[in-house]
Amino acid sequence: DGEVVHCIGCGAKVQTTNKDALGYTPKSALEKGLQNGEVYCQRCFRLRHYNEIAPVSLSDDDFLKLLTSISGTDSLIVYVVDIFDVNGSLIPGLHRFVGDNPVLLVGNKLDVLPASIKERKVRDWLRQRANSAGIRPIDVELISAKTNFDVDHLLDQIEKYRDGKDVYVVGVTNVGKSTLINAVIRQSTGIKELITTSRFPGTTLDRIDIPLNDGHSIVDTPGIIQPEQMAHHLVGKELNLVTPQKTIKPKIYQLNPEQTLFFGGVARFDYDSGDGKHGFTVYAENNLYIHRTKLENAEAFYEKHLGDLLSPPSENRKDDFPPLERHEFKTSQKSDVVIEGLGWVTVPSDVVVSGWAPKGVSVLIRPAMI
Ligand code: GDP
Repeated sequence: DGEVVHCIGCGAKVQTTNKDALGYTPKSALEKGLQNGEVYCQRCFRLRHYNEIAPVSLSDDDFLKLLTSISGTDSLIVYVVDIFDVNGSLIPGLHRFVGDNPVLLVGNKLDVLPASIKERKVRDWLRQRANSAGIRPIDVELISAKTNFDVDHLLDQIEKYRDGKDVYVVGVTNVGKSTLINAVIRQSTGIKELITTSRFPGTTLDRIDIPLNDGHSIVDTPGIIQPEQMAHHLVGKELNLVTPQKTIKPKIYQLNPEQTLFFGGVARFDYDSGDGKHGFTVYAENNLYIHRTKLENAEAFYEKHLGDLLSPPSENRKDDFPPLERHEFKTSQKSDVVIEGLGWVTVPSDVVVSGWAPKGVSVLIRPAMI
């Protein structure tokens, strides 16, 4: 009745309205908890009973407060990004907040990259992207939280770089931070201890502490929603059709100038001009429908078929889907045109090509990774 209740696990203010926000507790669980005098939010409940951490997001304001509080600590920052969506992984202002604290950059979802890609190239590229966002990582690690690939190695690196300090794991939503924390939890101490160390009733800690052997912790923090993700334009099954789920099998298309490829209805690639026919290699989710057509027909085709042949988005959601925006590139070497969150097309030297994506989703060019 207007009385504020705090989760005894994490200290978050308990609320029953927003499933994805901090402190969410189903009404029935809240009532039960009040009777027993022990209210856990759903996130802490799942952590206690299933050893599993659920993703949770924060508003911009609260997230800034959280970052500010981290900047006041002497710690190692572990910054998790999705290697398929680096732009959509950027935390606004992170470089201003980490202060002098070292940042270990972790590129997640390595399992979806074809084996032919050199890890060193991906690492160098990721470091450059971080640098241009004003972040100078002390090191770059590539992992797959889902398959557990190199999570061991990451933990060794964290141990090396933390130098006896606390560790804060930060990342925007959808990059796989919760999956990573779950992998870490599986490898670390018992869950009981985990909850005890984060039990500070009445304070909003917004964090889960995983105790380390020297009295310090690995701290999981909530993610912030980064609106420039392809993910935010899609729902449920649509998202699985676009986000690479398993190792990508590259597909080669022999294109003439003035030909277009549609990636469902979510993106588009044009070979605008060049000296004749070339092979273009597409790296995207294996089940995503790719449709080839003539450039001159492309616009009309899109209008006619968006939501049916060109899907996702599905028919009933196509009117809410933002229009595609064009980004033109002229290549002077073999390059990848990257549509973030979706994948990329490897294009030859000396051609003019265009990548199209929903407004806000970034399209960029890089030297070819393969
Ligand atoms: P969070 O919002 O950052 O906590 O992200 P989640 O851990 O909830 O993961 C977001 C989505 O990415 C889920 O569909 C995960 O299954 C998927 N995911 C997470 N880690 C990996 C990974 O290493 N590889 C792949 N292929 N998918 C991953």
